Amino acid sequence: MGIESIDFSHSGVTVQQSHPCQEGSSCCDDDYCRCGVYTHVDIDTSDKGTICHMVCQEFDITDEVDKYVVDRILNNMDGYYDESYNFYAGAGYYGEELDRVWFSSDPERINNAIEHIKELNTVEEKIEFALTVEYGFVLGKLKDVTYELKDISPHKMEAGN
Ligand SMILES: [Zn+2]
Repeated sequence: MGIESIDFSHSGVTVQQSHPCQEGSSCCDDDYCRCGVYTHVDIDTSDKGTICHMVCQEFDITDEVDKYVVDRILNNMDGYYDESYNFYAGAGYYGEELDRVWFSSDPERINNAIEHIKELNTVEEKIEFALTVEYGFVLGKLKDVTYELKDISPHKMEAGN
């Protein structure tokens, strides 16, 4: 188990394709395009949510605060970084097909951080850990603050708060 064992080939990580026939080649003339080749990983905003969701599934993380901490871990440990991913593509009938896309950068760092969440019991401990992941430390004056998750309806919020 770990982020490196997740296959992101069907969702989560976008791998850009190039089509020689769209750049002047006559390879696909008068026929279906079959010349597509995968070129590079290109993670966009919508990929991030899917990656986080799939990682949470892999680690059995269902708590909303835990999911937030996973997102901060991924954000700060190159989990949303194009070059952290590798892919295999093979020949298919309509051009290349993706076989597998996986996180290949430094999985142990992310795996250890996510496993650590499971040892934390309170929201305060979890938020402190998220802040440590994000900034490398927690401000002294935030140390003894208590946090609470609240649902606030948008019309009760004032700009600037
Ligand atoms: Zn083509």
